[in-house]
Amino acid sequence: HEPVKRYVQIYYEPLYRGSELFGVLLVHRDITKEYEVDRMKSEFVSTVSHELRTPLASVLGFAELLLHRELKPDRQRKYISTIHQEARRLTTLINDFLDLQRMESGRQSYDMKPAKLGELVQEAMELQKVNVSSHNLIWKDEAREAIVFADRDKMLQVFTNLINNAIKYSPHGGKITIHLRTEKGRLLVTTQDEGLGIPADALPNLFNKFYRVDNSDRREIGGTGLGLAIVKEIINRHKGDISVHSVLGEGSAFTISLPLFEPQEQGGEEQSYPSP
Ligand code: ADP
Repeated sequence: HEPVKRYVQIYYEPLYRGSELFGVLLVHRDITKEYEVDRMKSEFVSTVSHELRTPLASVLGFAELLLHRELKPDRQRKYISTIHQEARRLTTLINDFLDLQRMESGRQSYDMKPAKLGELVQEAMELQKVNVSSHNLIWKDEAREAIVFADRDKMLQVFTNLINNAIKYSPHGGKITIHLRTEKGRLLVTTQDEGLGIPADALPNLFNKFYRVDNSDRREIGGTGLGLAIVKEIINRHKGDISVHSVLGEGSAFTISLPLFEPQEQGGEEQSYPSP
């Protein structure tokens, strides 16, 4: 392990008896935690402002061109379409960001119920299918009846994000396989694609907020770097895990593992699982 850097605040107070100094009171306080929180806050604020400023600069730039230049109609349309695209990106960014904030602060309540996860995953697939024609979505269900204790909407968001990424980062199409199975009291769901893959040095940061892989092969692909952070947060709240296996240029596989729901007594299932 790396040695942990600690920050310490020291106060001292001379102690007098009459006019005679007889000692010094020394207070030694470990402020590492406060220091870290402060540092993370300012780093976060600067990342957020950068992320907001980039699309805004482009909206402003193109709006100014439209206002002050005589442009041919096709140019005008092109610029308006860029403004529209960037404004949408800003909206997604703000929504994702607020979602994540709410989740992390524990202010978002989870509506936990026993749910057949297979149905949810299939629902997420159907929603995404509308957007794809060049990809082959394959559904491998070996745990049709498996039940987990979950918030349906949040889980839908997890699988929508993962399937959406699989499609987005496979610009040349290919197979996307979603595999559901059980193993040792857990339900496993893997989404596997044949897309761009992820460089090994990016893997440790992949689930961090705003982290995006900065490779030339994907610079044109839009995103906020919040999708996987949201997925991870939701999975943590379900006492689950997420792992990734990826080979650059060959594809990626994300696996989610969740504890299977086992009712302890007939009729008393809901009470036996308190909400987190
Ligand atoms: P976003 O897609 O908005 O950039 P995410 O948090 O969803 O943000 O993903 C973070 C990064 O991880 C992406 O920028 C992308 O480079 C990489 N990534 C995520 N999923 C995949 C995938 N299925 N294949 C390849 N790269 C991926």
